[in-house]
Amino acid sequence: MSFKYLTISQVKAGLKSKEFSCVELVNYYLEQINRQRDLNTFITVMSDSALAQAKEVDQKISDRGPLGELEGVPIAIKDLILTKGVKTTASSKILADYIAPYDATVVSRLKEAGTIILGKNNCDEFAMGSSNETSAFGLVLNPWDKTRVPGGSSGGSAAAVAADQCVLAIGTDTGGSTRQPASLCGVVGLKPTYGRVSRYGLIAMTSSLDQAGPITRSVEDSALVLKIMAGQDNYDATASVKPVENYLAALSQNIKGLKVGLPKEYFTEGISPEVSEAVKQAIKKIEALGAEVVEVSLPHTAYALAVYYIILPAEVSSNLARFDGIRYGFRSSVAQNLSEIYQKTKAEGFGAEVKRRMMIGTYVLSAGYQEAYYVKAKKVQNLIRQEYAEVFKKVDLLVTPTCPTTAFKLGEKTSDPLTMYLNDVFTVSANIAGLCGISIPAGFDRNNLPIGLQILGAPFAESQMLRLAYNYQEATEWHKQHPL
Ligand code: GLN
Repeated sequence: MSFKYLTISQVKAGLKSKEFSCVELVNYYLEQINRQRDLNTFITVMSDSALAQAKEVDQKISDRGPLGELEGVPIAIKDLILTKGVKTTASSKILADYIAPYDATVVSRLKEAGTIILGKNNCDEFAMGSSNETSAFGLVLNPWDKTRVPGGSSGGSAAAVAADQCVLAIGTDTGGSTRQPASLCGVVGLKPTYGRVSRYGLIAMTSSLDQAGPITRSVEDSALVLKIMAGQDNYDATASVKPVENYLAALSQNIKGLKVGLPKEYFTEGISPEVSEAVKQAIKKIEALGAEVVEVSLPHTAYALAVYYIILPAEVSSNLARFDGIRYGFRSSVAQNLSEIYQKTKAEGFGAEVKRRMMIGTYVLSAGYQEAYYVKAKKVQNLIRQEYAEVFKKVDLLVTPTCPTTAFKLGEKTSDPLTMYLNDVFTVSANIAGLCGISIPAGFDRNNLPIGLQILGAPFAESQMLRLAYNYQEATEWHKQHPL
């Protein structure tokens, strides 16, 4: 029996028909994690609890007890998401020994559905980064080429899915962090509409932009998991009360008559010719499948990244103020008095990128500068939102590259934050405008590195978005290629 690259439905069928036991399945993934430790995808591996749970699942199946929708599916969780009784570090020294006292809503929903959590994935520190190089727990390697980055911030999650260390992983996306690493690792990364999924229990980075989303190997799996994660939550007032659609049902429809926009601003200079070519081929395919493709213009897109890097640090400076050495985690051992506790704890506990953003945030919110930066950025955000709303009156969905390039070399961009930030140029707009987005595999470059195609949908248009993604995926073979 080969366990290689199983999807959710294959896991469910295999368990049900007793082709394999859940213990065998969990052992396979634990072995995969152990064998490829060099990838550094996990900060915590939960072998004991995963195996104990697998035994219970096997028992339930023998007893013909009621099974959850994802019963026995082994998953991994980004270490930014609280998991009760387990270390949750945000990949930061400041939370290195922090044990989460409760489950995030997404975690409790996935547990109720019967999933088995294998462990917690490495990520950029507090989800700030595009290459997983800001983690206090070391680099994550891209399984397609170990000299390259997996993307970030959910780099450990995307690399773990690509390397077959779990069936799927849950990441978070504030400016592209599920889509960009999915693109660089050749898997599927979804960012739900802001408010579609509860943020309760996500360690807050930028509360007005953060969303958790699934990283999977197929669009179908993405739809299945989103359905479980999504929906109203009494613990998060920003979680929408809109009923959750049956995303799986949307997949069975073809895309004839669907109107797809190509925003010309997304095909600018700086994008690698190979990425551009792959996306053009994908668009041809989408047309051949029956969608109507039209060019659209979003002139304010050019400002999305600038807006993002004002709103984000502003909220970061406020959200991360709580890590003061008193209430959470690490405290400097050399501090002599209260103000030294604050200063030295933060100085020793946070990495350079986090400090940079906290300082920029404090600056853009400070008296005298707030109007010029923060307030202005919020106004431009509004313009961007309106512009997308207008475009979505004309088209159902937008198609763009996910990233300007494929996976870059480790260390290539670490000394220049601006070059690093440019990686997110195509993904941040979805967060700034509150849209939904997904990245799916759409080709390879000459180094055999995966290329991602991004589909953007209007707020709460997840069904449409998944429908297009699924139809494209069913008509192509890219997602069936694996690094190992
Ligand atoms: N790479 C982006 C950043 O550094 C996005 C991060 C994210 O989505 N969490 O902020």
